[in-house]
Amino acid sequence: MARGNINNSELLDELEQSTITNLLKCCIKAKEYSYSPYSKFRVGAALLTDTGEIIDGCNVENASYGLSICAERTALVKAVSMGFRKFPAIAVTADLDEFVSPCGACRQFIVEFGLECDVYLVKSDLSYKKVCISELLPLPFTSTELESVNLQRKSLFEGKFKD
Ligand SMILES: [Zn+2]
Repeated sequence: MARGNINNSELLDELEQSTITNLLKCCIKAKEYSYSPYSKFRVGAALLTDTGEIIDGCNVENASYGLSICAERTALVKAVSMGFRKFPAIAVTADLDEFVSPCGACRQFIVEFGLECDVYLVKSDLSYKKVCISELLPLPFTSTELESVNLQRKSLFEGKFKD
């Protein structure tokens, strides 16, 4: 089936359980590649693209702690660098017996590519909780705010140099 111009919500409507199961398994597998020698907190993520590909990611730590990158952002950066821009779903898992949610930075990173992304919080037994990114990050800062500022600046600038 052609999926060239499908939007996120159309794809979500037709997400089959098998696709969701693949996404869940993929994030658990990705966790195995976690490079987390300092925190020992392994995280795996799997990102579904609008064309049905699954791009995985793990957290990658650094001796300079602040340089560490989360699994969700690893997956997003990989996917964008491969040419993908639309992501109807992302799954994330850690070693805890509870659902682990993306950190604030990753929520902002996910929102950059759309407000409709479903986030699957996954335990190792494949049980999951599904939430929308807009629930995890209400009142998000997006490119819309930047466009508004640019429009305001433009009108100020034009007003200043009239006549
Ligand atoms: Zn994060």
